[in-house]
Amino acid sequence: MPGSPLRKFVGALALAVAVVVALVVPAGYFVLGYHDRAATLDFEAHLNAARVSQYIYTHNVLWQYQQLRLSEIVQLPAGGGGPIRQKIYDADGRLVLDDGDAVAAPVLSRKASIVVSGATVGSLVAEASLRGTLIGTGFVAILSSILGLVMYLAARMLPLRALDGAVAALTHTQRDLATQNRRFDAALSNMAQGLCLFDADHRLVIVNRRFFEIFNPPPGTVVTGITLERFLAIARAVDGDPVAAAAEQQRLLAEPAGGTAVTSLADGRCISIVNRPMSGGGLVATFEDITEQRMAEERIRHLAHFDALTDLPNRVTFYERVGTILKHLRRSESLAILSVDLDHFKNVNDTLGHPIGDRLLKAVADRMRGCVRSEDIVARLGGDEFAIVQVPSGQPVGVPTLAARLIELVGAPYELEGHQVVVGVSIGIAIAPADGREPDAIMKNADLALYRAKTDGGGTYRFYELEMDARMQARRALELDLRKAVVKGEFEVFYQPIVDVKTGRVKSCEALLRWHHPERGMVGPPEFIPVAEETGLIVPIGEWVLRRACAEAARWPKQVTISVNLSPAQFKSRNLVRSVEDALEKADLDPGRLELEITELVLLEEADGAFAVLHQLRDLGIKIAMDDFGTGYSSLGYLRSFPFDKIKIDQSFIRDLPAKEDSLAIVRAVVGLSSSLGITTTAEGVETKEQFARLASEGCNEVQGFLFSPPRPASEIEPMLGELAPRTEEVA
Ligand code: C2E
Ligand code: CA
Ligand code: CA
Repeated sequence: MPGSPLRKFVGALALAVAVVVALVVPAGYFVLGYHDRAATLDFEAHLNAARVSQYIYTHNVLWQYQQLRLSEIVQLPAGGGGPIRQKIYDADGRLVLDDGDAVAAPVLSRKASIVVSGATVGSLVAEASLRGTLIGTGFVAILSSILGLVMYLAARMLPLRALDGAVAALTHTQRDLATQNRRFDAALSNMAQGLCLFDADHRLVIVNRRFFEIFNPPPGTVVTGITLERFLAIARAVDGDPVAAAAEQQRLLAEPAGGTAVTSLADGRCISIVNRPMSGGGLVATFEDITEQRMAEERIRHLAHFDALTDLPNRVTFYERVGTILKHLRRSESLAILSVDLDHFKNVNDTLGHPIGDRLLKAVADRMRGCVRSEDIVARLGGDEFAIVQVPSGQPVGVPTLAARLIELVGAPYELEGHQVVVGVSIGIAIAPADGREPDAIMKNADLALYRAKTDGGGTYRFYELEMDARMQARRALELDLRKAVVKGEFEVFYQPIVDVKTGRVKSCEALLRWHHPERGMVGPPEFIPVAEETGLIVPIGEWVLRRACAEAARWPKQVTISVNLSPAQFKSRNLVRSVEDALEKADLDPGRLELEITELVLLEEADGAFAVLHQLRDLGIKIAMDDFGTGYSSLGYLRSFPFDKIKIDQSFIRDLPAKEDSLAIVRAVVGLSSSLGITTTAEGVETKEQFARLASEGCNEVQGFLFSPPRPASEIEPMLGELAPRTEEVA
């Protein structure tokens, strides 16, 4: 701060001190030197005048002529004062003696009278030069000027620097305070909460912007200085609720530090108020609009208990409610739980996409709600699993009616975004307390009944029966055994010849799996393949069959091919093509000699993915056969969707040949269609000569069945591969 008065003052002070030092010291030196010289000269003049008086008094001769003598008398020992010149005058003022050299100017002179017996007879004048004193004064002046300058600089610099430091520190503090104030203001006006601060007299000191945004009080009403009472009255008036402000104030003040009171405003907003008394007696209150937070919490609470898609109670809520109802169940009352599952819901998702699947679930939920009474509970447990609780009404007869209505109404066609969707419903029913007293136990039994309804083909309902449990246990035991069998290698592949109708030669052999169970002996595929499919064990088992069959076929004559069954679960594993290639490579078998048999289920359950895999397999040169043709819903439809190499007409149509007319009609139609499409037809389960003769005359290409050979171990099949020709001719 260059121009500040303090700084100027310090500068002036330093200058004054310097000037004083530079002037006073030499002046003093001069004055003192002058006085000293003058005093000495005065003394010497008087001394020598006295000596001359003495001389004149004793000799009383013509002293005026005794120059030599006078000169001796006035001789002074050499002193520090420098040379002096002495002149003696007689009473008439005539120069009697002039002793000493002339002294340099400026000259200082002192005169003393020569008095003898009371009469002045002459005078003595002593002269000395002041030049030495002046030179000394000059030196001193120079030194003191230097000293003065140094003092000035020091006096100016040092205190000013200290001053500057102090001033700078002060400025900083001021600036910090200003910044802090600004920050405080910014924080205050940007905080999410409204804030009001009251002093010890309960007068408003600070109120921030957010407060106004939250309460929007009439302009000019909430201003600093108003009392808490007035303030609350305004806040209440804004809220539209004229609650006594004094009581509110009482409550606010009485509340412990940090106390929260949530109020809801007239417009529905939720405001959380936190007040904190201050140590000096004041009060800080913060106001936060927690409407959204409340709504989010409410939403989360709802989501935790209700299914987001259908808005039905979820599994947790369902179990809670069932538990509560069971607790209050009277002796005479019973409770029905229906476990409801949609049949092949996955197909809807896979073929029409998840958005339509979701819409279907919503529509299903709506129809279910429509089927029950208001006191009953419909819940979505997950996916396409639903559950219904029919609360006690004293009329348990209603349960089958409800189940039948659900199957009928929920199973009716849906119109979704231009698609007609049909989905079946399976229901398992358990009754409490007969079938269980805890929600878990009842639900488990309802699920067992559902499982039964599903295995019975779906689209139906089943009540829980004790033996379902036993069957389930047996299934579980089988699953355990099956896992062990995979590890221990208890499987064997049998082969059944497929004979060319025209040549009577074995065209191919079908690989059929056998399980040598350690206790139960040989177990057939119908018993364990479904369990292997459900558990996924079919994947490693299927791979093993593929490897075994290819290795075996590699030893057979080149014209004999091998057929291997694939189940839908293997298509889901996504690893199928790789493992087929692997089996062919390991066995060094020409892909043209491998035929894979699939059923409609593969195409039904896996839709697009399955077709892609089938094309990949076919591109490798492998043949694809459609197995069990005629048992599914749309066998003919699938014939158009994929270029099958072969169709295997299901045993059920062959069994009734030749007597049953409609079976014959089907065989005829399939053979006709296939030959026009260039597809080979194979008839399965040929047991009699009559059946064979009929099939041959209808133009069927290949036959397979006990008539020719049952499935046999590999060791027995190899010798047969050339043998069958005579036999076919014979039956023909
Ligand atoms: P499938 O593919 O239709 O196999 C033909 C079934 O008919 C075989 O039953 C065979 O033993 C039986 N059979 C053959 N000729 C006759 C006959 O003249 N009369 C009668 N009544 N039956 C005959 P099997 O071996 O019990 O196999 C049953 C099913 O298990 C097979 O039906 C097939 O779907 C499945 N399967 C067998 N092995 C495998 C396998 O390795 N993998 C897969 N995924 N499934 C397999
Ligand atoms: Ca087959
Ligand atoms: Ca078959």
